[in-house]
Amino acid sequence: MKVTTIGFDADDTLWHNERFYVLTQDRFADLLSDYTDRTTLDERLLDSEKRNIGHYGYGIKGFMLSMIETAIEVTDGRVPATVINRILEIGQDMLRHPIELLPHAEAAVKAMAASHHRVLLITKGDLLDQERKLTESGLWEYFDGVEIVSEKSPDVYGRIFSEHGDGADRAMMVGNSMKSDVVPAIAAGAWGIHVPFHLAWALEAAEPPEGHDRYRVLDDLGNLPELVAEIG
Ligand SMILES: [Mg+2]
Repeated sequence: MKVTTIGFDADDTLWHNERFYVLTQDRFADLLSDYTDRTTLDERLLDSEKRNIGHYGYGIKGFMLSMIETAIEVTDGRVPATVINRILEIGQDMLRHPIELLPHAEAAVKAMAASHHRVLLITKGDLLDQERKLTESGLWEYFDGVEIVSEKSPDVYGRIFSEHGDGADRAMMVGNSMKSDVVPAIAAGAWGIHVPFHLAWALEAAEPPEGHDRYRVLDDLGNLPELVAEIG
């Protein structure tokens, strides 16, 4: 059965993302170095992100609120307003960071768009931020559909691949997150193509579906056209 629809993840699949979180977390740690050690701070922040993800969703705004919550916690409520203000500023810097495409991303999207496949962007994160990045990437015109979703579950993939394509069993999802891009897409019946990125957020880890006949790993997007041709 031929693959007719190809979904691309956005962050750390087409363009850099996690590196900005890492840099921001370094700046956050500098702001609070008088109050706590780095390991404790990182642990508390991750705990806060885990607690908040169901309320705020994925993206920078929720991350900013988690940083503020963590700052209040580790200072026992004594964090100065000047530090809160700096946290807001470093978060706003993230919302302005220039888009940096990953190697082969542009060529891969264009190659898939030029073939007979329907090409989709499927991403989590803040609506405005993802729209901004997609606009700046210059790639928007190559996508037949853009889905910015609150969670990437098998049901969500099933709906998207039915609405935009010929169902999940004739679709492929390509992304850097085992937990969000690969495992749920395969659970929905699609192909799941993992393109690992060297930085990964702790909350995106999952066991790979080793041995599954619809699971593949690519070193980079440069090999995607060949893989798609091979699968058919
Ligand atoms: Mg990603």
